[in-house]
Amino acid sequence: MTKKAAAAQKKAPAAKKTAAAKKTAAAKKAPALVKKTAAAAKKTPAAVKKAASVEKPAKKAAPVQKIAVRPPAGESPTALVRRARRINRELAEVYPYAHPELDFENPFQLLVATVLSAQTTDLRVNQTTPGLFAKYPTPEDLAAANPEEVEEILRPCGFFRAKTKSVIGLSKALVENFGGEVPGKLEELVTLPGVGRKTAFVVLGNAFGRPGITVDTHFQRLVRRWQWTDETDPDKIEAAVGALFPKSDWTDLSHHVIWHGRRICHARKPACGACPIAPLCPAYGEGETDPEKAKKLLKYEKGGFPGQRLKPPQAYLDAGGTPAPPLGAA
Ligand code: SF4
Repeated sequence: MTKKAAAAQKKAPAAKKTAAAKKTAAAKKAPALVKKTAAAAKKTPAAVKKAASVEKPAKKAAPVQKIAVRPPAGESPTALVRRARRINRELAEVYPYAHPELDFENPFQLLVATVLSAQTTDLRVNQTTPGLFAKYPTPEDLAAANPEEVEEILRPCGFFRAKTKSVIGLSKALVENFGGEVPGKLEELVTLPGVGRKTAFVVLGNAFGRPGITVDTHFQRLVRRWQWTDETDPDKIEAAVGALFPKSDWTDLSHHVIWHGRRICHARKPACGACPIAPLCPAYGEGETDPEKAKKLLKYEKGGFPGQRLKPPQAYLDAGGTPAPPLGAA
């Protein structure tokens, strides 16, 4: 074990356990370690436990500790890093307009929209939030709202009672603990009811410009198909994938992977025959390989359909994308 890894393990008991269990020759050869990005937040305020949550609150705010690049059998750590970065570069060409698919105009709106997006589509959230923010534009307004009225507005999002509790609860916490402002730090964001690491990284990456990896269901599925990691725990996936890329790439990488998962590399039937990164993919053939049939599986702008945002960025419109319809439109 290198001195660097030994020091990291000393500081981080959890990482020590993992590293000890998985100590391999590859780990010794591959000291490309993720930098520990935050010390913090061993304590999770009691408020998090008490409040109803839609996304499971983070047990701890600090990112998973340093982790070595662990390639699949037969691939060197360097080759894995190169392959992963090449896939990301190709995806950047396929989705040059990739962006968060929730409509928002400020950090508060993005925070609320991200909490609402659990167990539903971004489209449905985007169709619901205009009514919510028109009536409750600030954390103060939502903190003082009548829950039954908010429930009625949020009904189309599903789990509307739990989501109402979360957004009112997090608005109260913003008012009481952060002066009505969304905090720009991970360890503070995860103290808010209904806010876990995934939500926090979406907000940090897209409203504050702080790099973060968003490990949602698409991200988990695709990085496994690409054999970037065999981890299954989202925190460990975040650390393992983070080790393959410079931190400055993390937010865009998340968009590229999630966009590919939503449009082409679907859970049940990936459109392999219409996939621009097929030559780089170890899972090619897991889905439809016939080009014509695969083309019919493409979604959103890749299939000639509207996107998820009612107000997408101009780059998306310039590339031929069309906005999503408002709620109730044909
Ligand atoms: S080739 Fe198939 S499995 Fe691989 S990324 Fe493309 S759609 Fe997904």
